[in-house]
Amino acid sequence: MGNIKKDISSKAEEPSSTKTGRAIGDGFAMKTDSATKGNAPRLAVQSQGSLPTALTALLVLWGVVQQYQSEDSFGLLHLCYCLVVSYVYADYWLWMLHCFLDRKENLSSQIAPIAELAKKFQDHHDVPATLLGENHFGEIDDLVTATAGIGLALGAWTSPSTKFIVALVTAWGGLGGLNHFYGHALTHGHQVPALYKYGQRWGLLPTSKHHKQHHTAPFEENWNFLNGLHGVLYEPLYFAGGSSYMALFGMFYSLNPFCIQVLALAAGSVLA
Ligand SMILES: [Zn+2]
Ligand SMILES: [Zn+2]
Repeated sequence: MGNIKKDISSKAEEPSSTKTGRAIGDGFAMKTDSATKGNAPRLAVQSQGSLPTALTALLVLWGVVQQYQSEDSFGLLHLCYCLVVSYVYADYWLWMLHCFLDRKENLSSQIAPIAELAKKFQDHHDVPATLLGENHFGEIDDLVTATAGIGLALGAWTSPSTKFIVALVTAWGGLGGLNHFYGHALTHGHQVPALYKYGQRWGLLPTSKHHKQHHTAPFEENWNFLNGLHGVLYEPLYFAGGSSYMALFGMFYSLNPFCIQVLALAAGSVLA
C-alpha cells in the first residue's frame, strides 16, 4: 500500500485557490479542468436506495413492535446504550473497511466485489474530485441491504436493542460516507448542509483538513470516517503490528457487520 500511495503523492488534492499544483494551507481541491478554470465540480445528489431504506425501516419497526409488546421499558439509558454500541462498532468497521480496501493486495482479490471496491477506494486517492459527481451515499446500498437483511433474518432471536443497534450502524455508516463527500465538497468551495458544516466546525465529525492528511504523502493515516478510536487504538495497533495485511484480513472477514451479528447471537446464546 505504501508504494501505491507514494506513487500517487503528486496527485493528492491541492488548494483550488493557488491553481498551481502545490499543496499549501488547509484547503485542497482537485487539479481538474473545471478546478483550474475556477469552477468547482458539480455535486451529485446523495441518496439511499429504496431496498436498503425499506429493510432498515422494517428492522426498526420490528424492534419497536417487539419492544412495545414486551414488559420491559425502554428508557434513556437504553437509548444511550444503543447509540454508543452502534457508534463504537461503526467507527471500528468504517476504519477497518477503508484501511483494508486501501491495501494493494486487494486489487487482485479472488472475491470480485472486494477487488472492485479496493480499486474504487484506491482510485479515489488518484482523483478525489471524481467523488463529487457520484452518489457516494448510495455506494453503501449493498452493504446496508445485507446488514439490515441479516438483521431481519436473525430477528426472531434478537432483542429490540440489537435491531436498533444494527439499524444505527447503517445510519452511522451513511453519516460517515456523507461527511466524507461533503468534506471534499467543502474543499472545493461548495455550500454543504449545516449538519456537516457545523459538525466539522465543532469537531463532531472528521474535518476536511483531517481527511486531507489521508490524501497527502506519506498517506499512512486517518482511514477513519467518524471521530473515534482510530488515533488511539486502531492505527497505533496496526502500525505496532507492522501494518499486517493478514491481521486486517482476519478482522475484515470475521468482524464485519454480517458475521458479527451471527457471532453476537451465538455468543449471547452461549452466555445466556
Ligand atoms: Zn483511502
Ligand atoms: Zn477522500
